[in-house]
Amino acid sequence: MKELKELKKIEKYVDQCMKCGFCTYFCPVYQEERVETSVARGKNYLVKLALKGEQEFTDELGKILSKCLLCKRCVVNCPAKSQIDRVVVGARAQMVNEKGLGAIKNFVFRKVMADRKRFTRYLKLAKAFQWLLPRTEGNIRHLPDFLKALGAGRNIPELAKTFLRDMVKPAYRPEGVKEPVMRVGFFMGCATDFIYPEIGLKLIDFLVKRNVEVIVPKEQNCCGAAIYFSGDFQTGRLLADMNADAFRDVDLIVTACATCSSTLKEYEKYLPESEDQRKRYEDFSKKVKDSMEFIIDVLKVDPKELKVREEFKGKTVTWHDPCHLVRYQDIKDQPRNILKNLEGIKYVEMPNADLCCGMGGSFSVYYYDLSKKIAKKKTEGIKATGADVVVTACPGCMINLIDNLLHNKMPQRVYHILELVE
Ligand code: SF4
Ligand code: SF4
Repeated sequence: MKELKELKKIEKYVDQCMKCGFCTYFCPVYQEERVETSVARGKNYLVKLALKGEQEFTDELGKILSKCLLCKRCVVNCPAKSQIDRVVVGARAQMVNEKGLGAIKNFVFRKVMADRKRFTRYLKLAKAFQWLLPRTEGNIRHLPDFLKALGAGRNIPELAKTFLRDMVKPAYRPEGVKEPVMRVGFFMGCATDFIYPEIGLKLIDFLVKRNVEVIVPKEQNCCGAAIYFSGDFQTGRLLADMNADAFRDVDLIVTACATCSSTLKEYEKYLPESEDQRKRYEDFSKKVKDSMEFIIDVLKVDPKELKVREEFKGKTVTWHDPCHLVRYQDIKDQPRNILKNLEGIKYVEMPNADLCCGMGGSFSVYYYDLSKKIAKKKTEGIKATGADVVVTACPGCMINLIDNLLHNKMPQRVYHILELVE
């Protein structure tokens, strides 16, 4: 066994659990599987044994650790304030130290995603061949049988005709003002860059019209969520350093992706190897704002000023809370504030709006059928609202919600909240 470097870092969190079992009520994975290894308490116990040298880093343990959405429902409801997200991610990092990343992740994370130019080239190539995937409807296609390892029949949106980074200027200065109110960096994120460029353009436009200067550094890379939450801290650190460098000269950093904003805010929690690096990530993370908190809390936009776009007038709209927004960043009132004040739509609160949609990053790739079972509760909640439109603030959730609504033959359409606003 190698040195338990990553486990030692999380020892104090492992000791927090008092085995009360309260988390069994809240864990979406446990609610489906009803086995102890699915829930925070069971995972924590195994990591505790590993710390004592009584549990090997076997493939079975790797599988147990991977079966967690990192949704943090157990964390926010734990009476002992046990931070199971830290325990799971730290133990995954130890697993990578012990057994390596595996050939596929090694190639995808370190050879492709770590190099934005190469990543973009590969996706342009994929775009040229996406016509091979059968079309479900509109710009949604689905995976054929030979790709069933990625989720049999999974519906996925097409890659955008033009990627966002090929459309944006390096800087946007508001017209007709001497001094912008602020200078912010726009962080794109992968899904907005490659699938939903219109969300990025919308946010830039929204900010510039409110006298904010927007800088779009081309050197920015993926936030690293899929990478460092899988335990690849080495590549996570590389991306964190690239992003900290790219945004060193702005007042604040704004993104329209809840997963990106929470991931950028957590660099300091997982990745630093020295005090200097910790300070650097901390300074970077302090500047990060999700678009919802930036618009309402920083810019102090009065939601009553906002107008709904013509095509949404008369629609019933409901809101899905992304885990990375509601539990990682405690942002829940800001989007509701906007939706409740938009004249021309009817806002209906969804039952269990904060339930995970079942995506969980690579969780839905490894455990697609389980992910769909978890999403069933979400689609039932959507159905109960009678809504025409589901809005959220995470492109990852949008992709998963679209897939599950289509599987359940439901007519609702999914949008980013910024898309609703004129
Ligand atoms: S993780 Fe929290 S809720 Fe779950 S058993 Fe431990 S102390 Fe109880
Ligand atoms: S983070 Fe979510 S999926 Fe993971 S153990 Fe906690 S409640 Fe279950």
